Amino acid sequence: MKRETKKTQFIKGIGVTPGIIIGKAYLLDRGKIEAPARVIPEFQIPQEVERFQDAVEEAKKQLRLAKEKLLREEAAGPTYILDVHLLLLEDKNLIENTIETIKQSWINSEWALKINLERLRKIFNNIDDEYLKSRKADIDYIGERILRSLMGKDKEAIPLIKEEVIIVSHDLSPADTAQMSKDKVTAFVTNMGGRTSHTAIMARSLEIPAVVGAETATHYINTGDTLIVDGITGVVVVNPSPEIMHEYLERQRVRQKMERELFQYRDLPAETIDGYRVKVLANIELVEEIPSVLQHGAEGIGLYRTEYLYLNRKDLPSEEDHFQAYKHVVEGIYPHAAVIRTLDIGGDKFLSHMDLAEEMNPAMGLRAIRFSLKEVDIFKVQLRAILRASAFGKVKLLFPMISGATEIREVKKILHAVRLDLSAEGIPFDPKMEIGIMIEVPSAVTIADILAKEVDFFSIGTNDLIQYSLAIDRVNESVTHLYEPLHPAILRLVKEVVQAAHNAGIRVAMCGEMAGEPLYVPILLGLELDELSMNVLSIFRVKKVLRSYTYRECKSLVSNSLHLSTPEEIEDLVRANLREKFPEEFGENFNYRLTLNEYKEGE
Ligand code: PEP
Ligand code: MG
Repeated sequence: MKRETKKTQFIKGIGVTPGIIIGKAYLLDRGKIEAPARVIPEFQIPQEVERFQDAVEEAKKQLRLAKEKLLREEAAGPTYILDVHLLLLEDKNLIENTIETIKQSWINSEWALKINLERLRKIFNNIDDEYLKSRKADIDYIGERILRSLMGKDKEAIPLIKEEVIIVSHDLSPADTAQMSKDKVTAFVTNMGGRTSHTAIMARSLEIPAVVGAETATHYINTGDTLIVDGITGVVVVNPSPEIMHEYLERQRVRQKMERELFQYRDLPAETIDGYRVKVLANIELVEEIPSVLQHGAEGIGLYRTEYLYLNRKDLPSEEDHFQAYKHVVEGIYPHAAVIRTLDIGGDKFLSHMDLAEEMNPAMGLRAIRFSLKEVDIFKVQLRAILRASAFGKVKLLFPMISGATEIREVKKILHAVRLDLSAEGIPFDPKMEIGIMIEVPSAVTIADILAKEVDFFSIGTNDLIQYSLAIDRVNESVTHLYEPLHPAILRLVKEVVQAAHNAGIRVAMCGEMAGEPLYVPILLGLELDELSMNVLSIFRVKKVLRSYTYRECKSLVSNSLHLSTPEEIEDLVRANLREKFPEEFGENFNYRLTLNEYKEGE
């Protein structure tokens, strides 16, 4: 039950984008809806049938409106999917049988619909034809539409939000987040999610302060409540008292001053006191981020996550769609290079228009390069576009989730074929474009020496490397506390990769979130990474830390850390070391510090 009184409450989650925002809450329904199941008395059956028919009519109306809108839009995509859905809403098997079930079994519409949807799904499952089988997703879609109409829960669209709000939701997909515009959504809070989930990463890219994993948020917060979202400490204050509001306004002011001071690092080189140089690069998800990348003085793009080109649309991007995006990025960052990563779909990122099989364990399923090697035609479209863009600047090509040499050899064969096609067509591309692989699966670390012979560079993806080696789901807020970049196992893995790369004479970058965390910078320097690629918001802070160390100090910090047994011991050592140089920022429990004397979740 939601509480009526506007009492101040505190909710603790995981802060994922620094910044303090004060504003009004807007509750967004993104949960999967649960259909209530009820037996109804016989006299209510006609009424129930009518309720069901009305819901079907409502669903039809919405689909027709959506179709009209699509037809009106200039870049209208195909409307046949909507036609299929409209036809399904006339389908005897679904609609009439559901009405029959209500009449025969004396149950409510939601329950009857669920039974009939299940029956239809089974029929589709048993069909041999792959195409027809894949239409199962349409049935699910239609089922969800009618259910939402029945329950008055028509899904709100983020782009339709008109005023400045702080979105509060049970969960948000990376695709939802990608649609947020900063001048409307000033911050967001979700019950679910971890620090390195793609929703969190997207929030940082869009520079939207956010708190995820705030498990009870939708329980305590109502639309219209005043919220303070502290993306640094992960605290959300609901209906703050005047004293707390005052305190946070002060903190906001101090924070903004700090941000302004950090700006001096923009043009300073990323080098230690004794001249050891690393490259500080930016991770991006959208082409719109290029101006911010330039403003933050990044020395290139170390990771362009291209999967967002595939999200939030009804069809696959064409070669031209890809090409225009890549050309924009490549020209925008020139004379620096852009590392373009091929599609990494799956895991916590899904395509809305492809009927992918539901997987029990998507992080270990048909994700990233596995998907591209299965859907070679889709893969080739992307490779052609990347190669074409390479003629307009400096491009490096990166492949995600490589787990063995066979995969990279297969990839190289496909790339070779695409190059031959382009040459035959007289289309220019950079024949010397470097290719690299993400090192993010533990097996790739173990055979890093073998893989190093196959490619021109490595990029360590700690988000997944930690997920797979410590067996911690990166999107699950319940295990977030076990997500330990300073785990001795992780430090050893990184060390092993760097050594293998350097023995083979290739460069090695880190592009997981670990690379953008100031606390880890001295360790990463000591581990001899050549490049650190991060969200733009981290660049100044990382440079600040980096420029206060000597390379020797970093080396000795690493060798002392590698003698310790637990992440906690290593973190204590690293923090103590940083505290000597930055007593303000790295004081005891800085990340969790609450200046409020008392902190109580909920009541
Ligand atoms: C990683 O796994 O660390 C990485 C950079 O890739 P992504 O976060 O997109 O999985
Ligand atoms: Mg990854």
